[in-house]
Amino acid sequence: MLQPAWRNWQTRRTQNPFPARECGFDPLRRQIFTVKLFQAAAEVFVPDGCPAAAALARITHLGIGAHQDDLEFMAFHGVAECFGKTKQWFCGVTCTDGAGSSRSGAYAGLGDAEMADLRREEQRAAAVAGNYGAMIQLGYASSKVRDRGDKRLREDLRGILEAMKPEVVYTHNLADKHPTHVAVARATIEALRSLPPEIRPQRVIGCEGWRDLDWLPDNEKVVMDVTGHEALAAKLSACFVSQIGGGKRYDLAVAGRRAAHATFSDPHSPDRAAQVIFGMDLTPLIKDAALDPGAYVDGMIERFRRAVRTSHG
Ligand SMILES: [Zn+2]
Repeated sequence: MLQPAWRNWQTRRTQNPFPARECGFDPLRRQIFTVKLFQAAAEVFVPDGCPAAAALARITHLGIGAHQDDLEFMAFHGVAECFGKTKQWFCGVTCTDGAGSSRSGAYAGLGDAEMADLRREEQRAAAVAGNYGAMIQLGYASSKVRDRGDKRLREDLRGILEAMKPEVVYTHNLADKHPTHVAVARATIEALRSLPPEIRPQRVIGCEGWRDLDWLPDNEKVVMDVTGHEALAAKLSACFVSQIGGGKRYDLAVAGRRAAHATFSDPHSPDRAAQVIFGMDLTPLIKDAALDPGAYVDGMIERFRRAVRTSHG
């Protein structure tokens, strides 16, 4: 009798490969159709058991994040947009293996491999709670993600993007404070640029993580109103017990940041929303492959600097 994969979350056992195999992903070959994933720890999890071909083809909103839980905080707009819909599906891609996650309290004694198992299972639980169309964990060590010379992550992402052809892609923003986040954003941009133009997404959004984006000039902000989805957000946050219970109250911090954005966006009118996420539009980088991502974010910072200076006359 097969157990649903998320049951393992409570027992902290490593992945039961059978549900993955049932959905059409072969964990031994690490292959979905023509998509070959490089890392031995890579996995594809389809919460509703839809065969992998159909599961990936139905994806409209794709989130690509560095760590387990990044997607639920930064790409929550995509999760909320698709939740409960039959024609829109969210897929999460988590690039790292979670072995370097912070741990304290009840988790302080866990080794890297045990921590990686736990984080992987927490991420799967979130995919179930959020009704994701698919959840892909690529299993890279953080150091490999940050290694610009190692092109395997970019190749994995390219294969996934080709199989899905999503309409919207969410990833980290280019001004994030965490170097692994920025490395994932850059690998995502490279992968998107390598796609034939006709299958590139309509919109690519860099999202808030270790730095928010309220400093972006108002006319450059991507404003994502997630008001009314507070219960879903809380349900997703609750899946990441090892981090939140371990002393990082991301759940409160993220809800507070969204509430602050809703109120502090406009000094002159009453709040029009209760929960708002800001994004950085990365679409121009996909349309113009000659545009350097570093120079692109420099331009935004320069326009912010000028806006501040204008107030001083
Ligand atoms: Zn992260």
